[in-house]
Amino acid sequence: MTAALPKHIEAASPHVMNTYGRLPIALSHGQGCRVWDVNGKRYLDALGGIAVNTLGHNHPKLVPALQDQISKIIHSSNYYHVPLQETLATKLVELSGLENVFFCSTGLEANEAALKLARKFGHDKGIERPEIVVYEHAFHGRSIATLSATGNPKVQAGFGPLVEGFIRVPLNDIKALEAATTGNPNVVAVFFEAIQGEGGIHSMKDEYLREVRALCDKRDWLLMIDEVQCGMGRTGKWFAHQWSGIKPDVMPLAKGLGSGVPIGAVVAGPKAAHIFQPGNHGTTFGGNPLAMRAGVETIRLMEEEGLLANAVKVGDHLRAALARELAGVAGVKEIRGRGLMLGIELTVPCGELLGRAAENGLLLSVTADTVIRMVPSLIMTTAEADEAVAILVPLIKQLLKEKA
Ligand SMILES: *Cc1c(COP(=O)(O)O)cnc(C)c1O
Repeated sequence: MTAALPKHIEAASPHVMNTYGRLPIALSHGQGCRVWDVNGKRYLDALGGIAVNTLGHNHPKLVPALQDQISKIIHSSNYYHVPLQETLATKLVELSGLENVFFCSTGLEANEAALKLARKFGHDKGIERPEIVVYEHAFHGRSIATLSATGNPKVQAGFGPLVEGFIRVPLNDIKALEAATTGNPNVVAVFFEAIQGEGGIHSMKDEYLREVRALCDKRDWLLMIDEVQCGMGRTGKWFAHQWSGIKPDVMPLAKGLGSGVPIGAVVAGPKAAHIFQPGNHGTTFGGNPLAMRAGVETIRLMEEEGLLANAVKVGDHLRAALARELAGVAGVKEIRGRGLMLGIELTVPCGELLGRAAENGLLLSVTADTVIRMVPSLIMTTAEADEAVAILVPLIKQLLKEKA
């Protein structure tokens, strides 16, 4: 059944466009938080496909459910009703306390839809040149509009002219937000990640979320929270903003929602739920039965297995173990994050750790040059967290020694 796989992976994909700096590794299969490469080497997976594989690999209940769905219907098109869309939307509405959902297939598409919602919200009010507040170090995707909203010059370089209509402000500074928008009648929305992922695991403070919510209410702006990475249980709440007690008006989701099957969603509250009318927005793949089944089963199994509580338990354990093992190590600047979304910031660039950790049997990521990021499956155990720490800590100490 298994197709022959190349045993040696060196410049292995000459016909695939060269857009990623890849490690010389090809994964063949996985089980839980373990994966094996095509040469049979085993790894502990603390990357989870970049916060995607919520239920780990080869989940014993997800796989048969997806097989069942594939044997019935994979795709039918939005010319017709897709009952599983209503099933998943109902669940997302229940978990978020919002009103309705638009389905797409990726994070940037969810954000693109949010940006279109904000602009049309403005146009419907007679604002012809709507502007949207975005944040320093933000990451919202790589389409022309979402890379324009992104706060990283490396993502934008070479792709100008950027989309206009964005105002950029620093994180957690309500005075800066007020100063940047006072007297501007064109502002329609504030858009940010509750916890920035690609930007280096920077959290919006709960108090700041409440302040921004109040300001959005006062000025009649949409509050749009990008939960593509930090949402779907990763921090121990279904959505990271829920720690603050507020609700957004628009919430893009993707990554972990389908446990690896491509899926995106924009969840809208009452203020945004009826902006789009037939013909305003759409996508061919969005909401297809396979993706919907993956979303429905992911949430069902997360509930059945208590994975929100597990994210808190294992996340706290992991953070405590790292804090203990790295205490007093010069060059470790901060350990931060919430639940199983964790960053370790060093004082020096640490991209080499990606390859070194993999050589030592651990998959993770490095983001914003100096931040080691762990966003594993929410099924990770404390024993696996301990194993990750045991592999990672000596590598951090070694790297810091070399760079001292
Ligand atoms: C990954 C990510 C995106 C982009 O998602 P894609 O599926 O890669 O398009 C957008 N926003 C955030 C916060 C992300 O982490």
